Amino acid sequence: MSKNSNNNLDKFFRSTKSVKPKSPKKKISEVTQVAEKKQNERISFLQNEILRHQDLYYNKEPEISDSEFDLLVNKLHKLAPDSPILKLVGKDSSKMYEKIEHIIPMNSQGKANEVSEFLAWTRKHKYPQYLVQYKLDGISVELQYLNGKLKHGISRGDGIKGDDITQNVLKMNGVPKVLNGNFTGAVRGEIVMYHDIFERKYSDQKNCRNTASGITKRKSGEGCEDLNIIVYNARNISSPFTDELEKIAWMEANGFSVVPQKIMKNADKIIIYRTEIHENLRNSLQYDIDGLVIKGTQIDWEDMKRHHPEKQIALKFPLEEAISILRDVEWSQSGSVFTPIAIIEPVELMGTTVQRASLANPDLIEKLNLMIGSEVIVVKRGEIIPKIMKVVYNSDICEKIKIPEICPACKEKLVNESTRLYCPNVSCSEKDLHRLRKWIKKLEIKNFGEKLLEQLFNEGKIRKIADLYRLKVSDITALERQGIRSAEKALNNLFAVNSISLGKLIGGFDIEGIGETIIDLVADAGFDSLEAIKNASIGDLAKIEGIAEINAQKIIEGIEKLESDMIELLDTNKITIEKKVKGGNFSGKSFCFTGKLTEITRNEAKDLVISLGGQFRSGVTSKLDFLVTNDPGSGSSKNTKARDLGVEIITESEFLEMAHG
Ligand SMILES: [Zn+2]
Repeated sequence: MSKNSNNNLDKFFRSTKSVKPKSPKKKISEVTQVAEKKQNERISFLQNEILRHQDLYYNKEPEISDSEFDLLVNKLHKLAPDSPILKLVGKDSSKMYEKIEHIIPMNSQGKANEVSEFLAWTRKHKYPQYLVQYKLDGISVELQYLNGKLKHGISRGDGIKGDDITQNVLKMNGVPKVLNGNFTGAVRGEIVMYHDIFERKYSDQKNCRNTASGITKRKSGEGCEDLNIIVYNARNISSPFTDELEKIAWMEANGFSVVPQKIMKNADKIIIYRTEIHENLRNSLQYDIDGLVIKGTQIDWEDMKRHHPEKQIALKFPLEEAISILRDVEWSQSGSVFTPIAIIEPVELMGTTVQRASLANPDLIEKLNLMIGSEVIVVKRGEIIPKIMKVVYNSDICEKIKIPEICPACKEKLVNESTRLYCPNVSCSEKDLHRLRKWIKKLEIKNFGEKLLEQLFNEGKIRKIADLYRLKVSDITALERQGIRSAEKALNNLFAVNSISLGKLIGGFDIEGIGETIIDLVADAGFDSLEAIKNASIGDLAKIEGIAEINAQKIIEGIEKLESDMIELLDTNKITIEKKVKGGNFSGKSFCFTGKLTEITRNEAKDLVISLGGQFRSGVTSKLDFLVTNDPGSGSSKNTKARDLGVEIITESEFLEMAHG
C-alpha cells in the first residue's frame, strides 16, 4: 500500500475510533486486517453510489446536487486514487444524441475557492482592467450560427464534442434564431431555470440546476419552454471581435440575454464586490450563481483553446457544503421542548469553523437515518444556522442515537411526538424558568441577566412573573456575588417598563407558538383586552386574517391556563396594559419595516405604530399600506414584493413625519 493511502487510512480511523473504541488487546495484524476490510467496504460503497448517481443523472432524475456528487468523487479520490470509477466520471455515457464538435472548446477553467488563490492569480495576470461576470450555476451550452442563422445547440459533453440538443434549445428562451448580419461562429452560455418558474412548477424537485439539467436531456423536449439561456462568450470566425467589450456589445445588440458584468480596476474592488454579491444581491437574482468569472478585456484565443485556460479565473463564493462525521447529539431544553443539536467533526464552511448543526427534531434523525458516527453532508448558507442535509454513509460501527426519556428538571417521562419531544408536566420548573427568561427578554429589561434570574429562581425567590415585581433589593443582595448597586440597577430597569401592549403581555407569557405578533392581530381585530380574548370562542379568533384555527385554540387554551398568573401580575400594579389610541395618526394603517433604521430602533418604530393606532406587520401582503425602508432601491424580497403588489414604499424620515404630523 502506498504511503499516501496509508495516511488516508489513518485519518479515516482516527476520525471514527472515538465513537466506539475497539478492544485494545487485539493484535496489530488483526487490527490492520479489520481496518483494511472496512476501508474496502467504504471504497466499494462509494463506487456504487457514484455509478448509481451517474446513471440517475443521465437517464433519470438526479437525487443529489452536482456539488454533492463532487464531494463523493473527491472522497473516493482520497481513499482510492486509482479507482477505475474515477476515470468514468464526467464522461458522457449517453448515446442518445449525435455528437458535434464545439467551436469554442469548453475547457476547465481555473477556480479560486479562497481569496488568497485569487490574489495569487492577479499577481501573475496584471491587467489594466478586469472584466467581472457572474458565474452562472447552470448547464453549459454552445449555440452555433452559420451566416447569421442558428444551426446547432450543443451540450458540454467532454468539452471538445457535445450532444446535439438543437431541438430542445430551439424551445428555450433567449435564443435568437436569426442574427443581424452574416455572423458565423458560436455563442456560449448557460441554460438556467428562473426561481419563480421553479417555485411555480417544479418545487418538488431538488433545485433549479438539477431540474434544468433533467429537462435539457429529455428527448421529448417537454418543459424546455421553461428554461432560459444566458450568454457570456462568443467567437466570430469570419471577423473576430477586437476585445471583450465589443463582443458583449455585439451579443446585446443581437438580442441575447447577456450575463451581468462590470469593469473593475483592481483585485481589492473585485473581492469587495464578491462579498456584496454573495451576501446581498445573490438572493434577489432570478437565477443561481456560484461565484464570479474574472478575465482581462483583451481576447486571447490561444489561451481559450488551452486545456486549462490561464487568463481567466472563477472566483467562487465561500464553500457552503462539506462532509463531516456526527460525533454526538446534545439535547437542548427550552421550556418544555427538547431540541437535538448535532456535534460534528469541525469543518470549514463560509469562512467559519462549524462544529454544531441544527437537527430540528427526533423525526429528522429518523428520516435521515442519522447515527453516531454517520458521515454527513453539512450545509451553511449565509447567516443561517448550519444544518445536516443528509447521511452519506453509515458504517457498521455506527451507533443508534439515544433519545432522552426523562426530563432532567422534573423527572417526568418525556413525550415523543416525533416532530416534537417535550416534557408534559405543566408545572415543570424548567418551563417556569423559561417563561421568566422570556419575559425579561421580551420587555428588553437591561442589567437583569440570566445568571441573576437563575440564582433567584434556584433560591425559590421567583417562580411566576408576578414574583419579579415583588422583589426587593435585599432579595438580590442576599444572593452570592450580588452587590447593592447592581441590585438597584436591575430592579430600577425592571420597574421602569410599566406600560406594555396586550401583545407584549401575552407574548411574554411563553405560550407555545403564540408570539406578540399573533396577539397584535387579535387586538387589532377588536379583542383588545384579556377579558375580550377570554370571552371569545376559537371560531371568533380563527375568523381573523392571519390566525389559523390551531393558533386560535392555542391562544384560548393558553390564556385559560395562565389567566390567574396574568391577573396576579396586573394586581401588583407595577405593570399596566396600554390602551391603543383610537383615531391616532396611524389609525387604520399598517406598516412593515425592512433594512436598517437610523433614527429609531425597530422596536421603537413598532411601539410608535401601535401607540398611534396603526398596525405593525412582519411581512408584505397586498393589504399592507406602507413598507418603510431607507434603501428603497434594494433588491430585498420585501422591497420587490412591495413593488409587485403596488404597496407604497416610504423612507424612515417620511414615516416619522407621518407619525408626528
Ligand atoms: Zn420537566
